[in-house]
Amino acid sequence: MQILVLGSGTSSGVPTIGCPCAVCCSADPHDNRLRPSILISHEGKNIVIDTTPDFRTQVLREGVDRLDALLFTHHHADHIMGFDDIRPFNAKQRTRIPVYADGETLSALKRIFPYAFDSKVRDTFVPETETHDHEGKPFELFGLTVQPIPLLHGKQPIFGYRIGKLAYLTDHSEIPEASMGMLQGLDVLFLDALRYRPHPTHTTVAAALKLVEQLKPRRAYFTHICHDLPHAATQATMPDNVYLAYDGLRIDV
Ligand SMILES: [Zn+2]
Ligand SMILES: [Zn+2]
Repeated sequence: MQILVLGSGTSSGVPTIGCPCAVCCSADPHDNRLRPSILISHEGKNIVIDTTPDFRTQVLREGVDRLDALLFTHHHADHIMGFDDIRPFNAKQRTRIPVYADGETLSALKRIFPYAFDSKVRDTFVPETETHDHEGKPFELFGLTVQPIPLLHGKQPIFGYRIGKLAYLTDHSEIPEASMGMLQGLDVLFLDALRYRPHPTHTTVAAALKLVEQLKPRRAYFTHICHDLPHAATQATMPDNVYLAYDGLRIDV
């Protein structure tokens, strides 16, 4: 399985519009962070977790030429607003694209993009999907078992995903005890690590480091990073097996 980080930034992206701070003005490409998403490639199939507002830019940047499935973590704008841009994959592949999410996220997609889900016949081209409510239960996808991982994003229950020895957990402030048990024996663990200062719905760097100590993955990658963290200076303070993810990073699992 190969992982490609499509975006590693927080909801506003880095640089943040109108911000003159050192990270937003940095010349280091690692400090440019689009909204958070990864692509998982496995035996010729491409699975994307979350279609961010930057989805089009991300897939063009990386030369992604097919899309076989979408997984959604939750329905916040920074995770879904690029959904309409799956249309060229429908047109090229002449297939519907399977979408896996919990019921609340699927209802939000249907409310926000109604034209993609009604049965009206149109002359224009719209996203074509087949939706699957995973109800928090494991499911099979292209020979892989995908385990949804319940997380708390402030008070909102959302999902991360575990696939084999990879777990991708974005947007959480708390990992319930039962979910901690699903995260043992990982090779690669992605964790939300927004910034140093506390936030009501996101994990801090210190809390993410504590999770790494508890869960003991072989490698951990921090994501959903805001402009408080300069890449190089922050990376220099990390333990050996902990990395700040950056856009374009590729990892073999
Ligand atoms: Zn987010
Ligand atoms: Zn969110």
